[in-house]
Parts: sequence; C-alpha cells; structure tokens
Amino acid sequence: MYAQSVRMGRILGIPFGVNYSWFIIFVLITTSLFTQFASLHPQWTITEHLVFGIATSILFFASVVLHELGHSVMALKYGIPVKAITLFVFGGVAEIGKEPEKPMHEFTIAIAGPIVSAGLGVLFYGVMMLARGSSEGFAALGEWLGRINILLAVFNLIPGFPLDGGRVLRSIVWKYTGSFERATAIGAGSGQFFAYAFIIYGIFQALSGNVFGGLWIGFIGWFLLSAAQATVVQASIRSTLSGVRVRDVMTNECLRLPGFISIADLVENHLLKTGVRCTLVTDGDRLRGLITLHEIKQVPREEWNRTSLQAVMVTEELLTSVPPDAAIEAVLRVLSEENINQVPVVQNGRLLGVAGRERLLALVKTRLEFKA
Ligand SMILES: [Zn+2]
Repeated sequence: MYAQSVRMGRILGIPFGVNYSWFIIFVLITTSLFTQFASLHPQWTITEHLVFGIATSILFFASVVLHELGHSVMALKYGIPVKAITLFVFGGVAEIGKEPEKPMHEFTIAIAGPIVSAGLGVLFYGVMMLARGSSEGFAALGEWLGRINILLAVFNLIPGFPLDGGRVLRSIVWKYTGSFERATAIGAGSGQFFAYAFIIYGIFQALSGNVFGGLWIGFIGWFLLSAAQATVVQASIRSTLSGVRVRDVMTNECLRLPGFISIADLVENHLLKTGVRCTLVTDGDRLRGLITLHEIKQVPREEWNRTSLQAVMVTEELLTSVPPDAAIEAVLRVLSEENINQVPVVQNGRLLGVAGRERLLALVKTRLEFKA
C-alpha cells in the first residue's frame, strides 16, 4: 500500500513520504474547510476563506505527522528502527522496524501518539482563546484544529488493532498474561469488533441521509477490518508454528562458494545447473555473505566475468543470523522485517545452514492439514 509514495525528505533522520492517495484527501479536506468557513463566516473575504482553509488543512496534516513522530521518537529511544513515516488516505503511519521486546516499551510507543495529539488539541484551543477578540480567522483555525486533534487522540485510543489503543490493550494483556501471542489475538479480535461497529454505523448513517459521512466511516471500518484480519493471520501462523526450533526447519540446500569466483562462474556452473536459488559466500565454515538473484541482476551481463561474488554480496555484517536453538518466531521476524527469503543459521561464528520461507510455509500447511 505504501509503495506508491512520493519521498519528501527526512524528519529526525526518518524518511518521510506521502502516498498518492493522500492528495485526494488533502484536496477534500481543504475544499470542505473552505466551504465550511465560507458558510460560517460570510463576512470574511474570499482570500481569507482560502488562506485559512489551506493553512488549517496544512496544519492538520502537520499534526498527523507530529502524532507519528511521537511514536517514532519513543521507538528510537528503545533502539527500534523506524523505516518511514507515510501519509496516506486514512491518516499517517510510522513503520516501526520490529515488535517491541517488552510490554512497557510497546505501551509507551503506542500511547505517545495520542498524547501528542491531545497536547496539540489543547494548544490549538489555546490559540482559539487568545485569538477570539482579535482575529476571527485564527480563532476558527484554532477551534477546528483543537477539536480534530482531540478527536484523533480519542479515535486512536479505541482498544482494537491496528489502532494505538489496540497496542495499548495488547501491552497490558501481555504484561499480565506473559503471552505475546494471546495478547495479540485479543487485540486483533477487539479490532475486528470495532471495525464491524464502524461499518454498521457507517451504513446506518448513509441510509439515514448522511451519505458521504456514512460511506467514509464505513470505509474506515473496512480498512480497520482488513488490518485486524492481517494481524489475526500473522498471529495464527505464529501459533501454528509454536514449539518449532530453528534447527528443526534448517536446511543445507543453499550453495556454498568462495568469494573469489566470478558471477559468470556462479550463474553458468551452479545456478543454471542445480536449480538452487540461494548462494552463501563462505570461507571454510565461516559465513562471509549472501547473494540472491537481485544482487546478480544489478551487474551488467558483460561484467559478469570480471566481477567476483565478494564484490557484490550482502556482507555478513549486514545479515541478521539466528542461532539453531532459537524459537521459530525469530526467523519469522527477520523474514518479515528484512523482506528476505532465507535467514542464515549461525552458531559460534560457524554457518550451519539456512532457515527459509518456503520450508516454513510447507510446515504451516502440513500442521494445518493434520489439525483439521
Ligand atoms: Zn498513532
């Protein structure tokens, strides 16, 4: 969903972008503010309607970004990387690099966004109070932004995934049950409940005359529902694979080749002969790096003879490896966070094998078949 985004730069070192879908909502909100100001304050000039409409809209999206920055700053504080902040049609999202390790971390990261929104709400109501006697424009701007930020804080605190309140709920259940899986299932279940409530309420609103508002609420419900369901699927994969250790699914089917051979050698004598798609670059039983078809395709074909594997491999320092005794969750986490297909299994610096996506999917399938 966030692939079709325009990069706008960085904030606090975090890449910031807007999804194409956001431009639609920006235009909608700006026009609706313009018409709202025009009907509430007919004595203003057209320029004032326009200027305050656009300024209010821009400050609204700045508020959404600040909300996401609230989450991001806390995540960074706990050493959790933030991949990007993106604005899209339903608001903003901070892509947090991994799940928090402790309930308290998750609680703080989740609550930080609504706290920022509530603070901004108070701030803008302050602007409204101060401007009341002197500028109707600033008073109207402050009032609208004050209300919307308080609304954002309250909406996000609804206790269901994928909203912040769902994460708050999960962190509390996690703390008191000690089970991340059970807490996730409860947060996702509650998220589905609220999503259906939104959809039903939206349909009801649409049928009783508020067509646009009703449809909008319905769409938000539908978006929440699909996100909550995705969480349920992830949680059920995790629970299906519970008890599995990395060594159980580890294979040795990747090629192991020294770094000095050429890409031409790798392709002609290994990849095109064996059908094996993953290549580990090794030095004895030490892992030096990994090469996928992606790295090979970066090099023009006429240079394959002259380019060695170690020149293009993803080096060992950049790879996350897992120990053989780790629970399978570790592999699932690395696969989804780094968007790769194989995780090297390493113990005391020695490469034992790889744990890969295909094998895990096969295992999920087998386990589900026997369960049914
Ligand atoms: Zn949030």
